[in-house]
Amino acid sequence: MKPYHVDDVLITPRQLSQRVDELAHEMAAGIHSDNLVVIGILRGSFIFLADLVRWCSMNDVHPRIDFMIMESYGSGTKPFQEPQVSRDCSIDVTDADVVVVDDILDTGRTLKKAVAHLKAKGARTVRTCVLLDKPARRIVPCQADYCGFTIPDEFVVGYGLDYDGRYRELPHIAKVTFIEPTS
Ligand code: 5GP
Ligand code: MG
Repeated sequence: MKPYHVDDVLITPRQLSQRVDELAHEMAAGIHSDNLVVIGILRGSFIFLADLVRWCSMNDVHPRIDFMIMESYGSGTKPFQEPQVSRDCSIDVTDADVVVVDDILDTGRTLKKAVAHLKAKGARTVRTCVLLDKPARRIVPCQADYCGFTIPDEFVVGYGLDYDGRYRELPHIAKVTFIEPTS
């Protein structure tokens, strides 16, 4: 693995909590359903989703919450295959209004596949919510209904996002800088 360091804070914990709060209010104002299901895409969305769904209780909304695992990345920073649903959600989404929550929208393949998958399972509507968006990397046309931050084309970690399985626990979003060998 190339040498790297994780020092540059791109988004602070305070910025994250303010923006997640705003997103929660946007969603509370825009989503009215008696059959709301929130599906997080693991593993990167777990902290974001946990913070985001707290608006539900404040607004007397009681969604069912589940997760699915989608994988397209190996141990590096480049996708090596089409994303696959490697563990499906277990609750029935038939006729439900689903909100899919992911950590980051990059090429667009994961979110597009997740939406198609949930529609095929019978969801009535499928909305999308991502913490981060890297529009410069888009390959498949895809736009999230709710988005926390638009970021430049950098590989980032923290607040659920990993590099090689690590750094998910960081309370901020940090940039990974890869050190090119000299000589
Ligand atoms: P997409 O299918 O849109 O290319 O990729 C989405 C998935 O790629 C995300 O759910 C995330 O797991 C991973 N990903 C894309 N960019 C980054 C990044 O900058 N940092 C990390 N840790 N994961 C990323
Ligand atoms: Mg992911």
